Amino acid sequence: MARIIVVGSGFAGLSAAARLAKLRHQVTVLERDGEAGGLLLGRPIGGARWAAGPDGVTLPGVFRDLFRKSGRPMDALIAISPAGPRRHVVAGRWPGRGLELDLPFGTRGAQHDAVTTALGSDLWSPWVDELADPWDAVRRTVFEAAHPFGAPAPEVPLADVSLERLVRPVRDARLRRVGAELGWVDQSGPSVLAVWHYVERNFGRWRFDGGSAGLAAALLKRLGERRVTVETGVEVVEPAAASGVVDGVVLADGSVREADLVVWAAGSETSGARTLTAVRLDGAVAADDLVVHGRDVVRGWRSGDDGWVLEAPTGTDPLEVLARHGHDLRPHVTWRESVPAPPAVSDLPLPARSPREGLWLVGAAAAPGAGLEITGMGTAALAAHLGAVPR
Ligand SMILES: Cc1cc2nc3c(=O)[nH]c(=O)nc-3n(C[C@H](O)[C@H](O)[C@H](O)COP(=O)(O)OP(=O)(O)OC[C@H]3O[C@@H](n4cnc5c(N)ncnc54)[C@H](O)[C@@H]3O)c2cc1C
Repeated sequence: MARIIVVGSGFAGLSAAARLAKLRHQVTVLERDGEAGGLLLGRPIGGARWAAGPDGVTLPGVFRDLFRKSGRPMDALIAISPAGPRRHVVAGRWPGRGLELDLPFGTRGAQHDAVTTALGSDLWSPWVDELADPWDAVRRTVFEAAHPFGAPAPEVPLADVSLERLVRPVRDARLRRVGAELGWVDQSGPSVLAVWHYVERNFGRWRFDGGSAGLAAALLKRLGERRVTVETGVEVVEPAAASGVVDGVVLADGSVREADLVVWAAGSETSGARTLTAVRLDGAVAADDLVVHGRDVVRGWRSGDDGWVLEAPTGTDPLEVLARHGHDLRPHVTWRESVPAPPAVSDLPLPARSPREGLWLVGAAAAPGAGLEITGMGTAALAAHLGAVPR
C-alpha cells in the first residue's frame, strides 16, 4: 500500500483521492481552507460564495466513470439532468443585423433547428462536424495523460494551428464570432479550444443536483465510504524530498508529513487581466449561461436565485456592455462587487525548487484553465498509471 498525500480538495483533489483509495492506497487529503471543496464551493466575493463558472458540465461519462470506479454508480449519490442552452449575443454593425442565439447542447438536431431559426439556414452544424478529429487528437494525447512534475509539458496537438486552417471558415460573420468564442480566439488565432463546441454538442451539458456544491458533497461522501482522511485548515508549503525523491510534504508550521507519493491538486491562483463582477438583481430575467461577443467579451452565469456573475476584461463595465446590446440590467441591480478573475493560463503554483520524482500534478495545477471535465480525465489517467495495490 502506498501512503499518498493529496494537496488540495477541489475537484482535482477529491476525484484523485476517491480513485486512488479504491485502488487500495492509503490516502490523506490536506486542505488549506476551513472547508473541503475548493472552487466547487464557489468563489468568495463580498463575503459570500459565488458560482465559479456556469453550473454545468459536459462529458457526463467522465463523472459516471469517476463514481463507478471509486465505488457504487453515480446515481446512488447524486442525480444529474440536462442544463439549459447557452445564449450568444452578437452585435450587428449597420447595415448588418445582430444575432441572439440560444444554442442548446447535446444534439445536432436541436442545434440545427436553433441556428436555422436564427439565421434561415444552418451553417453551424457542418462546421462543428469538422472538429471531430481534432477533439480526438487532443483528448488522447493531452487530456487522458498523467502529468509527473518535472516532465516537459505535453505538446498540445494543433495548438499553433489557426481555426481557419483547421476547419473551413463559416461564411456568416456572426457565427464566426460564436465559433471563435472558446479560448478567446479569432479565425486566425490558436484553435484548439474550439473542439469544445463539438464536445458540448455531442455530449450535452449537464447539471448536478445542488450544482457544483452538490458534486463536492457527493464526492466527500464517497471519500468517507473509502476511508480517506480529509484534514482542513492545513497549509502545505512544498513537497519534502530526500535525494530527489518525494517523501512527504512540508506544512506551514514547519512540520513534515511523510508519504510515498504526493499528488499536487492545489489549483491555480495567479490573478489575471479579467474581472469577475457579482451582482444581485431585483426582478430582471437573465439567461443562466450567457456570452456577449465582440471586442469586450463578457460571460455571465447564474449563481443562486437572484445572483449573477459577469466575467469581463478588467476596466470594462460588464453591465454597460450588456446595456449596449439591449440587455440593460442596471436598473435592477441591488448590489455589486468586483474581484480579479483567475487567468486561463498561469505559472504553476508550485515552489520552483521542487522538480522531483514521486510528485504528480492534477487539475488546475497541471493544466491551468482546465475545466472539471479535463480535470476528471487527468485524475483517471493518474489512477490508471499508478495502478492498484496488490491484495
Ligand atoms: C462551476 C465551475 C465552473 C468552472 N468553469 C471553468 C471554466 O469555464 N474555465 C476554466 O478554465 N475553469 C473553470 N472552472 C475551474 C476549473 O474547473 C478548475 O480547474 C477545476 O475546478 C479543478 O480545480 P482544482 O481542484 O484544480 O482547483 P481548486 O478547485 O481551486 O482547488 C484547489 C484547492 O487547493 C487548496 N489549496 C491551495 N493551496 C494549498 C496549499 N498550499 N495547501 C493546501 N491546500 C491548498 C485550495 O484551498 C483549494 O481548495 C470551473 C469550476 C467550477 C467549480
